[in-house]
Amino acid sequence: MGQTVFIPRELDANEPRVAASPDTVKRLTALGFDVVVEAGAGTASRIPNEEFTKAGAAIGKAGDVSRADVVLKVRRPSEAELKAYRPGTAVIAIMDPYGNDAAVAALAKAGVTAFSMEFMPRITRAQSMDVLSSQANLAGYQAVIDAAAEYDRALPMMMTAAGTVPAAKAFIMGVGVAGLQAIATARRLGAVVTATDVRPAAKEQVASLGAKFLAVEDEEFKAAETAGGYAKEMSKEYQAKQAALTAEHIAKQDIVITTALIPGRLAPKLVSAAMVASMKPGSVIVDLAVERGGNVEGAVPGQVVTTADGVKIVGHLNVPGRVAASASLLYARNLYAFLETLVDKATKTLAVNRDDELVKATMLTNGGKVVHPAFVRAEQEPRVEPPAIPAKTMVADASAKPAAKKPAASRKPKTTGGIA
Ligand code: NAD
Repeated sequence: MGQTVFIPRELDANEPRVAASPDTVKRLTALGFDVVVEAGAGTASRIPNEEFTKAGAAIGKAGDVSRADVVLKVRRPSEAELKAYRPGTAVIAIMDPYGNDAAVAALAKAGVTAFSMEFMPRITRAQSMDVLSSQANLAGYQAVIDAAAEYDRALPMMMTAAGTVPAAKAFIMGVGVAGLQAIATARRLGAVVTATDVRPAAKEQVASLGAKFLAVEDEEFKAAETAGGYAKEMSKEYQAKQAALTAEHIAKQDIVITTALIPGRLAPKLVSAAMVASMKPGSVIVDLAVERGGNVEGAVPGQVVTTADGVKIVGHLNVPGRVAASASLLYARNLYAFLETLVDKATKTLAVNRDDELVKATMLTNGGKVVHPAFVRAEQEPRVEPPAIPAKTMVADASAKPAAKKPAASRKPKTTGGIA
């Protein structure tokens, strides 16, 4: 009998995704695992139990987690859920640890080896494990679909015998993974698309997608990209110039989609209430950064707000979850790709190499302790000051955090059998 991988049903009411697909169940089985999927785990992602069974999984109940060697999840297990977990179980999920010290401590206390998928380094080898990219890509797509649904007019130009319908004008602010997909999707729907970013590399990418780039291209702009490819927080002066440039542009747009994020900071405010008010009635703004503080003044997490001037500001939560059937397939593949690297192909068992950079970057807790450098201090010296940024608003970039202290775990020798 092989080791067991368990896939629970997500308990968060706002989480329709699931951490496995029939495809990954087949692959996990081929790796030598027994796979147990909790009944109904895939329902909200349109994967019935039978599909999992056909792929080789057994359908189980929540309590089966207690015999799992590996748990694949979308969200971090709660303290209540952890009660049923066996110490030593590897738990792979989006752990969202920033500002959630108590939850991280609970993972350590439960003795599980927790891996935070959002800390996966963005290196070539780990591209297939990049949950931020796979989910942001779909969020960018869905943002345009949501905008189109709220925008009660046609997006493409239509030249008909009865006259011409003008194309909608869409402006994408922040052109990372989500923004690029938003541009591509809006173009496919026939909108006239412009986009902005503070990173110069974005300019060429925007042009290659057939959209027009608009930005304050001064000296600060030329140095706005960090070595990791992320944006820096811009100076007040730059922000003022950017606002002046975009204000006039936004007034002429039908749809604005904002995706701008800065690792470790609140999302930059890019659209002021005055800019919102300058738009025509019926215009739509989708704020994809709403869970991290929002790019748009007046955006409310989880709500579609209609302003007094008739502009709709869309602040949906968990946007990848709005396209859960697709998001789950990609997320499941991300998890499988990572788990495969943790398995000894000869013994067909878990063999976590603590010296592997992927493991170092993602391992949050192990052996009853918090081991991730960015969180180890939080455990040992409880912070006195409240975190500057609310939990849900942090960008999950562990590399942006200074290493507080070399984790004791990283001094341990490499292991080959199980998780030391
Ligand atoms: P992100 O989610 O951190 O931010 C979204 C976008 O907002 C970024 O393009 C950023 O530059 C932009 N932004 C920040 N402040 C802004 C402001 N004031 N005004 C306008 N725009 C602003 O970014 P992301 O989608 O995670 O991508 C970050 C980078 O990582 C990109 O260069 C992307 O191509 C790269 N990336 C690399 C890999 C890989 O190599 N495996 C994978 C994914 C992404």
